[in-house]
Amino acid sequence: MKHTLTDPPKLTRAQQAVLDLLRDVSQAIAAQDLFMMLRQTRSIGLATVYRSLETLKTRGLVKCVTGQPGEALYSLVGQDVHHLKCLSCDQSVQLENCPLSGVTQELQTTQQFKIYYHTLDFFGVCPDCQRSQQ
Ligand SMILES: [Zn+2]
Ligand SMILES: [Zn+2]
Repeated sequence: MKHTLTDPPKLTRAQQAVLDLLRDVSQAIAAQDLFMMLRQTRSIGLATVYRSLETLKTRGLVKCVTGQPGEALYSLVGQDVHHLKCLSCDQSVQLENCPLSGVTQELQTTQQFKIYYHTLDFFGVCPDCQRSQQ
């Protein structure tokens, strides 16, 4: 059931620009790179980009994942995608369905936490690699 008490505040132009660009690039991107791309079409400061990302994050529109050590990558909050990852050949298989949808509902109720997204990956050895290991 969905109930809205008040409409969330409107996005600022900078926040909207950041959101639009993330939608266009459709992959996780570093704040620095976002800034460089935005700069080509408008006058915007790096601090504004960071502030916008923070706001979009706490409103559940953007998520931040860590790529390389210390490097934060930003992307839109879309459907959760989960993978089985083979440690031997680096093959990764995308799961059709999220195994956690029920858990998310339950946590929202029991913990009274508003959950925007989650991450989940499984690591191991794929069938091909299991065969070649034997
Ligand atoms: Zn493998
Ligand atoms: Zn999921």
